[in-house]
Amino acid sequence: MKNNQFISIAVDGPVGAGKSTLCDALARRLGIVHLDTGAMYRAFGLYVLRHQDISPDDEEALGRLIREGQINIGVSFEGDSQITLLNGKDVTKQLRGEAVGTAASAVSRFSAVRRYLVSLQQELAKERSLLIDGRDIGTVVLPDAKVKIFLTASVEDRALRRFHQLIDAGIDADYATVLKDMIARDEQDQNRQTDPLRPAQDAIILDTTNLKFEESLQKMLAIVCEVYEQN
Ligand code: C5P
Repeated sequence: MKNNQFISIAVDGPVGAGKSTLCDALARRLGIVHLDTGAMYRAFGLYVLRHQDISPDDEEALGRLIREGQINIGVSFEGDSQITLLNGKDVTKQLRGEAVGTAASAVSRFSAVRRYLVSLQQELAKERSLLIDGRDIGTVVLPDAKVKIFLTASVEDRALRRFHQLIDAGIDADYATVLKDMIARDEQDQNRQTDPLRPAQDAIILDTTNLKFEESLQKMLAIVCEVYEQN
């Protein structure tokens, strides 16, 4: 790729569209690092789950945690793997469960939480080339990114993928519950007042329903190459 400035690629989309695995693979092919912003919201959710006295619905209390420095979220990279830190401790392996995802979705409604994590993400993007995935990357975190991809798929397809992931990870799950949770999570992400999930006006929408992993990856690569070759 021409251009010796940092490369910033924004990938957004609903839960279960395959963003994480596709972005890992795409970043590796491009030789850049993948920042999973969902892990940062999950780390916040994990903190709240661990502190029963703090409600994920109490905006004021969540804002206070940030202001008083009781919560500190950080990210570092080991090779191309992201390590997510909560108050200096590596919590990467504790972020995947559904309870943490639900807590993340709840706290992510609030602007104090979003402003805090968005500014951390923007700082990280100033330091290196990044492929960032999330819900508001093309609209809020990196509105000037040259490449914006909105990755989506039908809710049934996304629920089925998530169901298989859970079963493969040895987690007990049933499809109807996964589908119900996914519909509720979509609803919350799309309808929250602050930075709701929506494609940026200049995003390229990629619907991966019925696409195999490698086909989706090739389409993403083609989008990136086309944009960077034009510049
Ligand atoms: O992507 P992941 O499922 O790990 O994200 C967990 C939750 O964090 C999402 O359901 C969403 O509510 C929130 N999130 C967000 N903005 C981002 C990334 C994640 O609101 N940029």
